[in-house]
Amino acid sequence: MSTRPSTNPLGAAAARQARIDLAACHRLAARFGFNEGIDNHLTLIVPDHSDRFFLAPFGLHWSEVRASDFMEVDFEGKLRAGDGPVEDTALYIHMPVHRLAPQARCALHTHMPYATALGMLEDPRLEMAVQSALPFYEDISYDADYNGLAFDRTEGERLARALGEKSVLMMRNHGVLVVGRTVPEAFERLYLLERSCQAQILALSTGRALRPIPPHIVRSTIEQFWAGMKVGGLNRVELHFSALKRLLDRQEPDYAT
Ligand SMILES: [Zn+2]
Repeated sequence: MSTRPSTNPLGAAAARQARIDLAACHRLAARFGFNEGIDNHLTLIVPDHSDRFFLAPFGLHWSEVRASDFMEVDFEGKLRAGDGPVEDTALYIHMPVHRLAPQARCALHTHMPYATALGMLEDPRLEMAVQSALPFYEDISYDADYNGLAFDRTEGERLARALGEKSVLMMRNHGVLVVGRTVPEAFERLYLLERSCQAQILALSTGRALRPIPPHIVRSTIEQFWAGMKVGGLNRVELHFSALKRLLDRQEPDYAT
């Protein structure tokens, strides 16, 4: 591991687990086709360091990222641990979002195809017309304007303000920003968002009208989601992410090294 030595064994274990989860997140995002070349970033606040985040060196394909690859970058943009190129949009999107949005311990920015396609439409809303969309009810912000590449800090600050307290920012003509308190939580949202956008695009491609779920059913179903979040005392989101990591353990175990 290229991380600095820690005198706190619990802190070191948490940092190692965070690296493994973030590496799994890269591998899984590549596996599901959420990447675009080597662009975009998936980042996480470093445990015990609220002012720095893990970032993969630019140039790695997400399918080859390992737990030991991550650099630690602080909120001034300085490299505090690890080695490698830091790409500008990591600083100008992720750094302000981590700094300004407390719910964004994990920040995933992608140009994944179906969510990005929805953001190209005049009306980019994710409709409450499929069950997998319902967890996003009132939890998506829609950025009104595309301003070109995020090559200065004010653009990231603008995006962080547009995100507000929500979990998802649909970035018009660009892609998405999905955040969470943990890697499994953020990845679950990324996965479900792309799946529900895919369903909406496929439904719209028939040329027939969508049939939205009535708001009172949306709200009662969300209550059901919350009530059923734990199965046998275990959290569904954690169970899904653990199952996906076992798949990686079998097929590409070097992610955890
Ligand atoms: Zn982007």
